[in-house]
Amino acid sequence: MQKLEDYIPIVGPERIDEIRALGAHLSGRTIQNINSTAVGGGVAEILTRMIPLLREAGVDARWDVIRGDNRFFAVTKAMHNALHGVPVSFTEEDREVFLEVNRQNVDVVQPWGDIIFIHDPQPIGLVRAIDRSRHRSVWRCHIDFANPMPDIWEFLKGFIESFDAAVFSAPAFSRPLSVRQVLISPSIDPLAEKNRDLTKEEIHSVCAQFGLDPGRPIVTQISRFDYLKDPVGVIKAYKMVKAHLDCQLVLAGGGATDDPEGQKVLDDVRNEAAGDPDIFVLFLPPASDRIINALQRASSVVLQKSLKEGFGLTVAEALWKAKPVIASAVGGIPLQVTHKYSGILTHSIEGTAFWIKQLLNEPTFAATLGQNGREHVLANFLITRHIKEYLLLFLSLDRPGDVIRL
Ligand code: UDP
Repeated sequence: MQKLEDYIPIVGPERIDEIRALGAHLSGRTIQNINSTAVGGGVAEILTRMIPLLREAGVDARWDVIRGDNRFFAVTKAMHNALHGVPVSFTEEDREVFLEVNRQNVDVVQPWGDIIFIHDPQPIGLVRAIDRSRHRSVWRCHIDFANPMPDIWEFLKGFIESFDAAVFSAPAFSRPLSVRQVLISPSIDPLAEKNRDLTKEEIHSVCAQFGLDPGRPIVTQISRFDYLKDPVGVIKAYKMVKAHLDCQLVLAGGGATDDPEGQKVLDDVRNEAAGDPDIFVLFLPPASDRIINALQRASSVVLQKSLKEGFGLTVAEALWKAKPVIASAVGGIPLQVTHKYSGILTHSIEGTAFWIKQLLNEPTFAATLGQNGREHVLANFLITRHIKEYLLLFLSLDRPGDVIRL
């Protein structure tokens, strides 16, 4: 596991000194993170890397995962879709399932930390069990809130307003609320197995493992198999390109334990891909970080054609590898990609296909986009900046209005 000092060659010593100084102000305080899955998706990804570094900074960071059955996760997935603006019904019975599982989880995770840091909607009902005179509480929203279905939003708002603060990933997601709102972007860890430098041999061996030809262009999207990531749209764009240009398409991803829709999406993807030996649909197990890293690095172009997106960690991961990225202009993606400067923003299957052709035909322009993207991630989206902002947030909960001297 990495140490804070390992990041000095990347971000410089001042950034690490700041983290240590802020951590010292929080020494002995317990930060209890609570979410709904230990593996799969961006939240688990960030917590896995961040908890040990927070602990090294002197903060007693913990991580608990709530338990739920299939019914609960079907309800929370429907909520997730509705919050992303998808019209789904949310019945009285669904509400009861949601509330009951949250009530049961009070005994499972026992909200006891000095600061209780709840991630996303699934465990949000635990806020009812928090004694606000003894604990501070923060709700961390990782999803795209630009256009939620009104009834789900109202339901959730009742919980959000019981926290001391709510954290959003992008300005577009903030909403009228009676509690303090804080903007903190997510981040990637440059030293994680998923992002560390790899040798050519390592990259080639992963290509060989899946039968990919590293000598021909590879276009890749890494994502959970989820409709909102539009994997079928990706295949359609690829087919438009393939009529003119030789290339291979990789759609790689796994599921998350809190996402029951994955299998159905995977079936649709396999149907759409059937019969084309240059489409590689790879269902990856949870511990596939080195494979994902190698697939991103082997790619000529990386796509993220989401219909909705929280932040889109996969975009930051690809940019960090200096890859030209073509991504939808949704959620937090425009924070990461400035069109034609640090990547390409698109709005349709046709637009995605157009830009894949352009970038495969113009490798120098594509390389410049990737290089600019890497600089942008270095300046804004690495884990060290994220840790610093969380520490400042935690401090501000106890000392509203105080100036904190480093
Ligand atoms: N990821 C992974 N395995 C997979 C699919 C995705 O490890 O099979 C990772 C991906 O590399 C990224 C995170 O999960 O780090 C996904 O975060 P993102 O913000 O892109 O989307 P989310 O899944 O949270 O909607």
